[in-house]
Amino acid sequence: MKQIFFLLIASICLISCAHDEVAHNGKIKIVTTTQMIKDVVENIGGDKVEVISLMGPGVDPHLYKATQGDLEKLSNADIIFYNGLHLEGKMQNVFERMSKTKSVVAVAQDIKEDDLILLAQKGDEVVHDPHIWHSVGLWSNVIFPIKNTLIEFDKDSTNRIGYEVMAKMYWNDLKYLDDETRATIAKIPKEQRLLITSHDAFNYYGRDYDIEVKGLQGISTVAEVGIKDVTEMVDLLVKRKVKAVFVESSVPKKPLEAVIQGCKQKGHAITIGGTLYSDAMGNNDTEEGTYIGMIKYNTNTIYKALN
Ligand SMILES: [Zn+2]
Repeated sequence: MKQIFFLLIASICLISCAHDEVAHNGKIKIVTTTQMIKDVVENIGGDKVEVISLMGPGVDPHLYKATQGDLEKLSNADIIFYNGLHLEGKMQNVFERMSKTKSVVAVAQDIKEDDLILLAQKGDEVVHDPHIWHSVGLWSNVIFPIKNTLIEFDKDSTNRIGYEVMAKMYWNDLKYLDDETRATIAKIPKEQRLLITSHDAFNYYGRDYDIEVKGLQGISTVAEVGIKDVTEMVDLLVKRKVKAVFVESSVPKKPLEAVIQGCKQKGHAITIGGTLYSDAMGNNDTEEGTYIGMIKYNTNTIYKALN
């Protein structure tokens, strides 16, 4: 009896192990920097791709440096997708090195310069705001370089139609999300539409969904918050009678707490309206762990706190 039992276990293991191996070997190995990019790649690539995101929930991309383990993952990948526009400020050398042996694609590459927010210009050198995922319309542009790269890499040309269809379906989902986000923010009275966060991640969100935005820390989290930044912010909040400010999942909330304290001292009560996902999404097993879920969560949090 025992012998039959072991034989049965052994044969189940053989079947499942063999199945795993086939599935694993058939997939295109992809590494992305952020979770937002990973989600798009999975939506287009479906079961043809195996995607790893280097940066998980709560990780700040401006400060992120590739670890030894990351370098191994990048070396083993067939394709690397990153945001570009200097979001991954400390990884540029790694991308350049990897691009000598494989496809290394900045997903922002096809976005028209006129659609980007200009931050600084010095001669020919221009710096644009990298937080493109906060405009759903702008973010839908990254679908095309990702789809085209997959089609180019995949030796099985019969998969092409699958990538095309999945890309079109995801584009439609994002179009719906874009309209829905605009409609929700429009329900907040105009004078209440002021979004205060730790750093300047929401400029595209503000531009596309008609809400004024201000970050305490500027575009990158590399810069320190000064006393002057806090004082100016307190004065603005008191003057505009703003009800709430928002913390971010990937940025320490201490400087924002100083602002709340400052408002209190001036007799203006202000609360934390919630945590927004700015530069990183939520945990994998939650709704906020998807790009669409993250945008919906942020929009609902803003709506509830400011309305
Ligand atoms: Zn940022």
